Amino acid sequence: MRVVTYHYVRPSPDRPPHGYYHLALDDFRRQLDHLEAEYDLLDRESFLDCVTGNRVPPADAAVLTFDDGLVDHYEWVLPELASRDLFGVFFVPTGPLVGEGVLPVHRVHSLAGRHSATELRDALFDVLARYEFAESDAGTADDPYEGRQTDDALTTFKRVLNFVVPYDRLGDVLGDVESRFETGPSADEYYLSPEQVRELHDAGMVVGAHSVNHPVLSRLSSAQQREEITDSFESLAEWVGDLPAKLFAYPYGTDQTFSAETKRLLEAADCDAAFTMISARATPGRFRNSRLALPRMDCNEFPHGGATFDLEA
Ligand SMILES: [Zn+2]
Repeated sequence: MRVVTYHYVRPSPDRPPHGYYHLALDDFRRQLDHLEAEYDLLDRESFLDCVTGNRVPPADAAVLTFDDGLVDHYEWVLPELASRDLFGVFFVPTGPLVGEGVLPVHRVHSLAGRHSATELRDALFDVLARYEFAESDAGTADDPYEGRQTDDALTTFKRVLNFVVPYDRLGDVLGDVESRFETGPSADEYYLSPEQVRELHDAGMVVGAHSVNHPVLSRLSSAQQREEITDSFESLAEWVGDLPAKLFAYPYGTDQTFSAETKRLLEAADCDAAFTMISARATPGRFRNSRLALPRMDCNEFPHGGATFDLEA
């Protein structure tokens, strides 16, 4: 099985994060045409049987997943899937939907979509000079976007904010950087509402957890990780009622962003399956032996899936 991952899908870059990587809606449609022609796009019940161990995933199967609870998924993805009688799995970080504001990962995208990378990097280092933290707090997580051809200044800017600045300082550091530029987006123009999550569910989509605050889980204590996992499942259950399966997607999703402890906690939370961003096919063996670390492939690994990237130099 190929599990395909999408983030921003939109007709034009006229909303935050503007020129930042997004899949153009027309390309999404072309890619769906391609996937429908080449693969067996599983129906919802067959997919649920696979993740609950009641069915062996067919080799030529594909499943579509959409990360980060973006409003794009309600406005453009849902109508497109519904018109083709397809279903998707939507992994929602619950914090921004309950008033916690725009996630740091998206505040970074939003800055990157509006300002030059060198200006951002310089502002960040200027701000950081006023904060003290140990480089060793950072862990060694990879930037999952490293493979994309981004400019060095932008890569540095994102890596430092996503993986290096300690979480207890991140809000202040980002706030200081943002204060030097225009005001960023508000959460309600960026994310689904709880009602829209319920509508996705009612329309035959599958909703899964993606933590509360989208942290690198391996940087957290066990207690903090447990909270991220259980609170996100609880919010989803509150919004949609009983989930047909408990599915989780690791934020960032590279192998350094979660640990054996993360998997133990997911197991304890009765999670049926968890998805990474490690690119590979999700084989029957993986479904049998490592259902809490199932690989996914980015949409850019398939025809028409290349993100449009239209930033200022
Ligand atoms: Zn995510």
